[in-house]
Order: sequence, then C-alpha cells, then structure tokens
Amino acid sequence: MNCRNCGNLLQQGVMVCPYCGTPVNNGMQQPMGGPMYQQPMMQQQYAPPKKSGSALKIILGVIGGIILLVIVVAVVIVLTSKKLKCSAAGGSFTVYYTDSNIWACTTTGTGTCDLDLLQSNAKTYGVDKVISLLKTTAENSGAVCTSE
Ligand SMILES: [Zn+2]
Repeated sequence: MNCRNCGNLLQQGVMVCPYCGTPVNNGMQQPMGGPMYQQPMMQQQYAPPKKSGSALKIILGVIGGIILLVIVVAVVIVLTSKKLKCSAAGGSFTVYYTDSNIWACTTTGTGTCDLDLLQSNAKTYGVDKVISLLKTTAENSGAVCTSE
C-alpha cells in the first residue's frame, strides 16, 4: 500500500511513513482498542447505582399506586353510597352506607357518631336495621333526617 500523504510505497506493518512522517491508517485503528475494552468496565461501575435508583422508583411507584387506589376506592364508595343525614339544632351527622357495609360517618357541631360501633352493629343486625334504628333514634330526639 502507499502513503496517503506522499504516495510512496510503504512496507507492510509500518505505523508511520518513513518518508514524510504521516501516520499510516493501520496505526490509527490501534488506539480504538483501548476505549472499547474500558467501556464495559464503565458500565459495570455505573450499574449498581442505577439498580438501587430504579428499585427506589419501583417502591415509590407501588406506594403511590396503593395511595391512589385507596383514594379512588374511597371516592367511589362515597359517590355510590347512600347517605343518611340527620340534623338537629346543635349539629348534624351523615352516615355513608351501602347494602353491605357502613363506610363512613361525618359530623358537624354537636353531632356524634361512632363508626366502629355502627360497623359492628351492621355486621350483627344488618345495615338496613342499623340505619333505620339510627334514623328513628335521631328523629325521636328532635333531629330531622333525610336519606339519599
Ligand atoms: Zn508519506
């Protein structure tokens, strides 16, 4: 082969042209070998931090997903629940329930309700009976109840 600069015939295996000093193409390829071996080592060094980072992301993703699911379920329950709202002069309470369970109970002012007790009674006597008893009791003590 010939020198790409001066055109003189070169002996095979030379790295620099003996006539003009221009590097021969063969010689240019050798430095490429170094970085090619270093790159896999670099990737291995960076791999552990990437793995722990993505594991953290997965954990945060799962936690976020669970929180989102709980919020969605809570919203769906409130939106699809029947409501019993009883108001008296000093305050009111609202009970959210479905055929299968009493889900929530909110109060304003002096209104009181014990969700644990309501749920426990609902398991024992059934939701309908507990709600109607709650309504009767509240109305007997002067409250005005509405059902939705
Ligand atoms: Zn040359």
